[in-house]
Amino acid sequence: MSSVVVVGSFNVDHVWRCDALPTAGATIAGRYSSGPGGKGFNQAIAAARAGAATTFVCALGGDVGGAMARGLAEQDGVQVVAEASNEPTGTGGIYVDNHGRNTIVIGPGANFTLSPGFIAQQQPLLAGAQVVLAQLESPLESIEAALTSARAAGVTTILNPAPANAVASIALLRQSDILTPNETEFAALLGRHVGQRMEGDDVAALDGNTLHGLCRQLLPGGTVVITLGAVGAFVSHEDEHLRGDAQAYYRVAADTAQTVDTTGAGDAFNGALAASLAHAPQAAFNLHVRFANRFAARSTESEGAAVSMPRLTPES
Ligand code: ADP
Repeated sequence: MSSVVVVGSFNVDHVWRCDALPTAGATIAGRYSSGPGGKGFNQAIAAARAGAATTFVCALGGDVGGAMARGLAEQDGVQVVAEASNEPTGTGGIYVDNHGRNTIVIGPGANFTLSPGFIAQQQPLLAGAQVVLAQLESPLESIEAALTSARAAGVTTILNPAPANAVASIALLRQSDILTPNETEFAALLGRHVGQRMEGDDVAALDGNTLHGLCRQLLPGGTVVITLGAVGAFVSHEDEHLRGDAQAYYRVAADTAQTVDTTGAGDAFNGALAASLAHAPQAAFNLHVRFANRFAARSTESEGAAVSMPRLTPES
C-alpha cells in the first residue's frame, strides 16, 4: 500500500549552459547535460527519499524517455503507474547563461494525454493512500478527477498550483485540503480568483494578518502554505481546522543552506511535506512544515532537481 501517491508530469530535460542566451537565428556552443525533470517526478522522488512508500501516476511515451522514467523511479523505489501514450514522453529544452538566466521550451507530449479515464481506473490506489499530491503540468480535468477521488475516500490532498501560468478553476483548487503556491503562483491565484492584483515579489513583505485574510478568501476551509524561497514559508489554516497547530497563521523560517542551485526547491518541499504528513498524520502541522523546510534547504545544496533531493526522513 502506498502512503503517498503523486499524480503528475515527467520530462527529460536537455540543458545547454552557454556564455549568453542565443538570439533568433544564432548558432552557438554550450555545455550539454540531460536529466529527469517534471514537477510530478521530482516530487515523487522527494517523497520517496523522505521515507514514504511512493507511487507516481503519469503518462509516458513508448520511447527512450519513458524507459528513463521507469528506470530512475525504480532506483529510488518509486512505483510507476503510467498510461501508455502515443505522444513522445515530455521534454524540456533549457538554455542557461553565465548569470543563471534561462530560456525554456517545454514539450508536454505524453504529459498532456493523462486521461480522466485512466485516473478513474486508479481509484483503489488513490483511496488507499495517506496523501495524494498533484501539480498543474497535466490535463486539469485529470488532476481534478484524482483529487476528487482521493478526497471522497477521506485521503488528504495537496495541490501544488504550479506552474503559475496554468489556469486552475476554483472548483479544482477546492479539491485540495492543502494548497502550496510559491509567491508567484500565490499572486497569480489572487489575481484570478480573489480580484487582488499583486506582484509575487511583494507577497513576503505583507503582514501576517493580511496574508491570512487573502488565503482564507482563496481556500475557505483549507490550509494554504505559501513557500517564500530563502525566507521560508507562511501557513494559514481555517480557524475550525488548525491541524494540531496552536495558531491559525504563522511563518516558519527557512533552514540555512550552502545554496548552489534552487531548481526544484519547491518540488522538494512538496514531496517532503506529503511524506511527513503520511508518516505522522496526527503530528502538529508546523512540524511537517519544519521538516519540509529542512528537506528543501538541503536540496538547494547540489545542482539539479530530482537528482538533488536529499535522503532525509522525518525521524532522522
Ligand atoms: P519554488 O522552487 O517553487 O519557487 P521556493 O523558492 O518558494 O519554491 O522554495 C521552496 C522552499 O525551499 C522554501 O519554502 C524553503 O523551504 C526552501 N528554500 C528555497 N530557497 C532556499 C534557500 N536559498 N535557502 C534555504 N531554503 C530554501
